[in-house]
Amino acid sequence: MNASPIQLSGHFRDKRWSTSSWRLKTAAQQPVYDTPEALTGVLERLRQMPALVRSTECASLREQLAQVANGWGFLLHAGDCAERFSDIHRQELTRKVRAMGQMGLLVQHATQQPVVQVARMAGQFAKPRSQNLETVNGVQLPVYRGDIVNDVTANADARRSDPQRLLQAYLYSSAVMNQLRSLSGESLMSLGLGDEAWQLPLLGELSHEERSYRHVVQQLTTILKSAPAGAYDAINLFVSHEGLHLAYEESLTGQGEDNHPYNLSTHYLWLGERTRQLDGAHVEYFRGIHNPIGVKVGPSCKPEELQELVRLLNPNNEPGRLTLITRFGKDRIAQCLPPLIEAVQQMDARVIWSCDPMHGNGIVSSQGIKTRRFQDILSEVRSAFDIHDAEGSRLGGLHLECTGSEVTECLGGSSDIEEADLTTNYTTACDPRLNASQSLELVFMISDCLQR
Ligand code: PEP
Ligand code: MN
Repeated sequence: MNASPIQLSGHFRDKRWSTSSWRLKTAAQQPVYDTPEALTGVLERLRQMPALVRSTECASLREQLAQVANGWGFLLHAGDCAERFSDIHRQELTRKVRAMGQMGLLVQHATQQPVVQVARMAGQFAKPRSQNLETVNGVQLPVYRGDIVNDVTANADARRSDPQRLLQAYLYSSAVMNQLRSLSGESLMSLGLGDEAWQLPLLGELSHEERSYRHVVQQLTTILKSAPAGAYDAINLFVSHEGLHLAYEESLTGQGEDNHPYNLSTHYLWLGERTRQLDGAHVEYFRGIHNPIGVKVGPSCKPEELQELVRLLNPNNEPGRLTLITRFGKDRIAQCLPPLIEAVQQMDARVIWSCDPMHGNGIVSSQGIKTRRFQDILSEVRSAFDIHDAEGSRLGGLHLECTGSEVTECLGGSSDIEEADLTTNYTTACDPRLNASQSLELVFMISDCLQR
């Protein structure tokens, strides 16, 4: 069901789009290469490479998201802040898929509605940064911009932008896709979803929450054991990444089976908070592709600016095309979110609202380690549900940074990670992620909101 088109204002109405029209605009956050010929050669090679997804899969995701935008179902969007080539590992991937599946089951159990699962996976290699340079042990170095650009190791050679990494990023993405496709449609039980997979660390005496979590897990386990394989827990993950490195994205953009242009390296792309300038190259690229897309919206976004973004990115007001992913921080959401919801309501725009409780809640520990508090993350999500309710709107999605193993990157949760524990298993190359049990706990703790 398509809603009426949104009245386009001046910006781009008459301008022709092509896969390379972004090159006429200013592109923020792009790496500088000192070997432009090598870059040209790699981009040419990428243009010849097989598509990683079918446009029909992107269209199917868009239809599923249209249902969410129309009020039925929930979008669970989660995964690493930055994937790393060296972390691409068969068992680790299985653990990530399993953790996503478990979160999905908890959401499905709470909402009794379909859950659309989109992983930050198979291409989440490019990172926007607030500075171009950083000082490490007194030496000034270019910042790490994700494995698609350079290496996180702190020396000048590793931090050089290397065009060959674009090809590696493509090849690693295809390896990940291959494993995801081999698991697709399988039952989550086949990934070893025994009772231990659901265990949360317990703090002494069973609290009320722990008791009810155990009860839900028991119900789920009974359903899973008695349902025919795949009936309830079939693995069905779509993939996504931030559309940041525009030359890479352009090279993998082609004609879909419906004759529209698609980014064929992933199902879903999002536009970051640092690259959503109305007259910028990223918005230009995004407005022309037919994949479902998201845009991150932070505290600096004004209501009129959001309206213009919505007009540019979803001019036909099609539900399922656009997700607004808000990321304000627990203390600012109450002030920032209501005017934006009202602005979108005024234009009767059919969008999905999703809450990213990660990127506005970063803190630095007393030892100088980047972290986030479980309680702050939970608090922003709960506020998002409350504010949408109060505004007569609907929170239709959750956007998390998390992983499938027991890393120690975020503080708190029932495992009660403290500042001193952060160094035990801190492996993220960029932002701190919820570990598997913190992720399950978070989703469980919002069951009451999901049930409304
Ligand atoms: C991210 O999702 O990792 C990210 C950089 O987010 P944002 O653009 O919202 O800062
Ligand atoms: Mn991040």
